[in-house]
This record gives sequence, C-alpha cells and structure tokens, in this order.
Amino acid sequence: MSEVNNDKNSLKRSFNDEEAYSTRKKEKVDDAPGSTSNDDQATNNAFAKKHSPISSDLYLDTINRKLLDFDFEKVCSVSLTNLSVYACLVCGRYFQGRGPSSHAYFHALNDNHHVFVNCSTLKFYILPESYQVVSSALQDIAYVIKPTYTREEVAKLDRFPQVSYDLMHKPYVPGFVGLNNIQSNDYFNVILQLLSHVKPLRNYLLLNTFDGCPEIIQRLAITVRKIWNPKAFKGHVSPQELIHEVTLLSHKKYSINEQKDPLEFLSWLMNTLHVSLGGKKSTMDKPTSIIHYNFQGHVRVESQKIRQHTENGDHVIFEGDRVIKTDIVPFLYLTLNLPPRPLFQDEFEGNIIPQVELIKLLEKYNGVATQELSGMRRRFHLLNSPPYLLFHMKRFMKNNYFTERNPTIVTFPLDNLDMSPFIDDGFLKTHPKIIPKYNLIANVIYESVLSADGETHVFRVQLRNSASNKWYQIQDLYVEEISSDMINLGESLIQLWERVH
Ligand SMILES: [Zn+2]
Repeated sequence: MSEVNNDKNSLKRSFNDEEAYSTRKKEKVDDAPGSTSNDDQATNNAFAKKHSPISSDLYLDTINRKLLDFDFEKVCSVSLTNLSVYACLVCGRYFQGRGPSSHAYFHALNDNHHVFVNCSTLKFYILPESYQVVSSALQDIAYVIKPTYTREEVAKLDRFPQVSYDLMHKPYVPGFVGLNNIQSNDYFNVILQLLSHVKPLRNYLLLNTFDGCPEIIQRLAITVRKIWNPKAFKGHVSPQELIHEVTLLSHKKYSINEQKDPLEFLSWLMNTLHVSLGGKKSTMDKPTSIIHYNFQGHVRVESQKIRQHTENGDHVIFEGDRVIKTDIVPFLYLTLNLPPRPLFQDEFEGNIIPQVELIKLLEKYNGVATQELSGMRRRFHLLNSPPYLLFHMKRFMKNNYFTERNPTIVTFPLDNLDMSPFIDDGFLKTHPKIIPKYNLIANVIYESVLSADGETHVFRVQLRNSASNKWYQIQDLYVEEISSDMINLGESLIQLWERVH
C-alpha cells in the first residue's frame, strides 16, 4: 500500500490504491479564498465578536426546497459575478455578498426573503441581520449542493440495489438518472454517463476532495457526486456547470450548441482529465493518472509497405517490402471496423440490416489478420489487458462529399467476453492472475431519426446496474429500465467493458 498522501498537488499518486482514496484531508472547511468579498469578511468578523451561530430560526419555515436547483452556474442574478455568491432559499435565485449594500442584502429587504446559503462554504445566514444558523434541518440542502460519501457507502453502491425518492416522491435509482439536454448536448451526456460508471474513477471522484485542483476536475467530481446522490431533491442532474468549463477548455469546440461525435469528445475529455490530474506522456512504464491506469493498453503494430510497379507497360504488380516495421502503440480505445455493406442486395435482402458478431470484429487484433490501407499492410496484436476496454465501432466514413454511415448491427455477449485470443501469450503467461474476460458496462448507441426537418442524430446510453444486474437506457432526461435482450438491437457506437475480478 502506498504512503498516505495529503499533498493536494499529488493526486495522481493515490489513484491506483484503494486505501488512498480518502486520505486527502479537506483543507478548507471555512470560506475559500476568493469566495468572500471584503465587505463580507468585515461583516463576518464584526458579527463573530457579538454572536455565535444559532441553531434554529422561525424563518427556516419559509424555505422552499422545490424551487432550489444548485446545478447551474453560481453567478449573482444582478451583477453576474461568481464571487461570494449566496442562494436565496426562499426563491432559489443567486445574489452576491451579504454585507449592507450587497445584492443579497437588498433582496432580503425588498422581497422579504431571509434565508441564504453561501454556495462555496455551505454556511447558512439570515439576512439582512446577517447572523449564521447552524441547524441539522438544513443539512439536506448542504448535501444537495455538495453530496459527500463515506467509504462504506461507496462500497455498497455496486452491491446493494437502491431506490430513492425525490421531493415529489418520484422514485429514482442513484447513478441511473437523466441529464438535461440544454440544446444539443446529448453527445456530451452519453459520455458523462459512461465515465461515471467506470467504478474506480467514480469512487475516486466521490471520495476525494479536489480543492486547488483544475476546475474541470472539481466540476466533474461534483457532477458525478450528484448523479449518484441518494438524497437528491430531483431525479435528474443538469451538467451545465461542467459543460461550461469544457467549452472554455476546448475553445468552444464542445458546447451545448452543436452536436459532436461522442468518440471525439470522449478522446478529448480523457486526455484533458489525464493532463489535469498531472498525468505524463504515455510510455510503457507505469500509468501516471487514474485515466491511463484504467484504460490504457498497448498494441503491437507490424507494418509492411506495399510497392506497386508496372511490368510490360500495363501489367500492375504489387509487392510487399522486405522490411517489416514493428511499433508499440499505446491506446485508450480500440477502433473496430465494420464489414462494408454489400453493394448489391436482391429483392428479398434489400430490407435486411446486416449483422456481425463482435468477436469477428476483434479478429483485427489477433496478430494474424492483416489490413491494407494507404499502401501499407498491417497487423495488430494486443500486448496487455487493461481494467477497462473501450471499443469504437467505426460507423461513419467521411469522404470529400458526405459522411456515409454503416448501419450494421453488432451482436455480442453481455458477460465474459473472452479477449485472450487477441492478447499476446507472453502477457497472459506472466500475469496469471489477470483473467482477460470482460463484462459490458455501458453501450452508447446511435439512432437516425427522420422527421419533417430531415434526418437528426440521437445518442443514447445503455447502462448496467451492477447491484441489481438490471439495464437502463437513458436518453437525456428519459430513463427506462430495459430487458437485456434489447441491448443488441441498436447501432452500437462506443462500448465500455470491465475486466472481471
Ligand atoms: Zn429570494
């Protein structure tokens, strides 16, 4: 077991060590720097000399939990600043500061709303008097803003089926909740759902505090905590705060405004998270972030150049180069090529959608099958068996004119996918404890929907609940339990497989 690690800048050292999950101490329990304005601080100090927090207040009965939504960007509704923001617990709006002349102070006077929470410190105040209330009756609100988990609770997530009820008494299953599609962010939602079901990554985000870490990590952690919240006020989550940060970091490439390729986004997000967690460039050495630890594998690529020359004027001869080049290439996901659609189909077969078994697609990596592309002949062989495998079914072929989609249905087992035929024997012999069998955890599917406005694309995700072994299909806010027979019917685009323990 690794050493206990309290250094907030060395998160990466604890990622592969269960014991180290919760060793990082919460360093700031009080107001975070930058979150409290000077006038606020002055009010705080002056008040602290005269009073200590009280445990109850008549105004607490005016709180309206149904109007509270803490998923959105915490900015003052008047000044638009994000510093020292308080939520009014009567109407749900955000206001800056709480000192005399602050926006929250005037809101209390003008609208007769008196109970506020500081969105960073989670301390509760009565305004305009500006005294603090510490009451167990308010803890559910603090929890919804920032859910926290114990190691015991996290250990139960995949073992004991759980049903929770929102404020409207509607049941929901923590971890299997809908995500708002603000405009065109279904591509984002399916990837967030997929990543929040990678158990070691999820546990790491639920159990650690990330004060001082890059904003993307903090926001991802909060969003994943909300997805798994067993005491939520509503049975869905808005990923808006996380998308906002992604949009900034990606220079607006990934936003709510335009649908994108989920795989491109996943690839960008994994690299961004790896770097944000202090990860280094890929090598054959030990992985340097929780992302690489769980997803990174290596593939041996052998390539041979194909020469083309003409003989006797018109006869074209292809000849393999004598030199075979071998490269070891790291990967975070594996691309699987679908067989081309038949060019001609007879009358009866015209409407039949072609099918192929996943195991056939994986033969690309058996070290024997060859692929020819751009004057090169190549063959691939996996060199190891990472804890999680991501498969990308290459459905979209871009040419100069348009994007063509291959609708071939891929069939696969849900459990015990045996990867040993595709992994180098040397690895299997030297790692006898690793069983290269995988269970499906998430399946992102694509659907083309024809409407009066033309063709639109829809992305959905199917997720396995390991605690109940039930499957859920989620398209944005819409969550339904589905039978496992339904999993093979859609056009799979990205799959997440978990190595059996
Ligand atoms: Zn209010």
